[in-house]
Amino acid sequence: MNVQLIREDFPILKDVIYLDSAATSLTPEPVLKATLDYYYQYRANVGRGVYRLAQLADQRYRDAHKKVAELIGAGNGATVFTKNTTESINAVAHGLGWARGDKIVTTLLEHHSNLLPWMRLKREGIELSVIKPDEEGYLDPSDFEREVDERTKLVAVSHLSNVLGTLAPIKEISSICKDRNAALLVDGAQSVPHMPVDVKDLGCDFLCFSGHKMLGPTGTGVLFVKDEESLEPLIVGGGMVEDVSLNASGMKDSCDTKRSCKMRNGYVRKKGYEGFEAGTPDISGGIGLGAAADYLKRVGTIEVAMHEKKLASKLLKGLQEIQGLEIYGPKDMKGRGGVVSFNVLGLLPHEVALMLDQVSNISVRSGHHCCIPLMKHLGLKNGNVRASLYLYNTEGEIEKLLATLEEISKVA
Ligand code: PMP
Repeated sequence: MNVQLIREDFPILKDVIYLDSAATSLTPEPVLKATLDYYYQYRANVGRGVYRLAQLADQRYRDAHKKVAELIGAGNGATVFTKNTTESINAVAHGLGWARGDKIVTTLLEHHSNLLPWMRLKREGIELSVIKPDEEGYLDPSDFEREVDERTKLVAVSHLSNVLGTLAPIKEISSICKDRNAALLVDGAQSVPHMPVDVKDLGCDFLCFSGHKMLGPTGTGVLFVKDEESLEPLIVGGGMVEDVSLNASGMKDSCDTKRSCKMRNGYVRKKGYEGFEAGTPDISGGIGLGAAADYLKRVGTIEVAMHEKKLASKLLKGLQEIQGLEIYGPKDMKGRGGVVSFNVLGLLPHEVALMLDQVSNISVRSGHHCCIPLMKHLGLKNGNVRASLYLYNTEGEIEKLLATLEEISKVA
């Protein structure tokens, strides 16, 4: 992987050291070009018109879904475009068909987006069980063995923690879910952009991630649904139906077996992603997301993961050598990714982030990272500072971060 060549695709990097890709990634030229080409060359709606322009837009938008599906190894099922991970998770919370007494198992590591939608379901009589990680942030499969029972309808876990950088034992959790007949939702917001992820390999029923964190345009996200019939769409309306009937017999539910779904609620849903994407979608965004998937495949997700591991290892080692720093999460690279969080003792996380920006043009995130329950558990009222890496970061940038932190720690 040639990082210098890759960096040429990201002109914004001339001015900053960007270490906040966990929040949102930068966007390379080929993705920007694909996004703009839609507006310049074939701007028309999708799934509707028969004229050439509309057909071209439709084809490109459909291709984008194929490219993203390919990236996550999704042969069957629907790879649906959404706004972001949050919308994808809410779509599952909304559409799974809950009954009073159903149980959801999740963890304390979760981002609010993989917590609040389940907490809200408590008012419908759903029980929520929250598993705690160990001190470093690792989850123990035996806790899932204990918590996932015959009442559990869903287990919702993030693949890689956006605070501690730890990877969850998804395969073990998946096999426990299969034993107990529970569905598994994986929040892949921090994994899909950074490493090879295959839905068959993970054994998940739903995979949620953000296009804007994987080099795609803002306002793009993905929901993979293994069994289309297991989920009601979040919104209904134009573009997602084969047929609509107002008469009473047509209103009857005649959908009881998998893949033979006909009339339900007075409409017959289209198969595949279209059945979940009511209304005019973010067409250029979707096409840009397809280009982002292509870009990642071209560079190679294994190469991206190896590059980040190398940088994260250097960063962790360097941080441990600086006096007056507290590091959170595992100190070695076993079972973790390129998200590293820490505090400079005596300074607030926001103060450290401001200094890094002002002194060395380094952009890092500070605060609770949308994980307030985890921060409370860690006893971090003000959260911490997070540096998150991606394919365009360099060893030189890590050295600059470490040198600036060394200076900051002296004034603390
Ligand atoms: N889950 C995790 C693990 C995340 O890191 C994030 C973004 N920080 C989200 C969910 C939410 O992503 P989005 O804002 O794109 O909906």
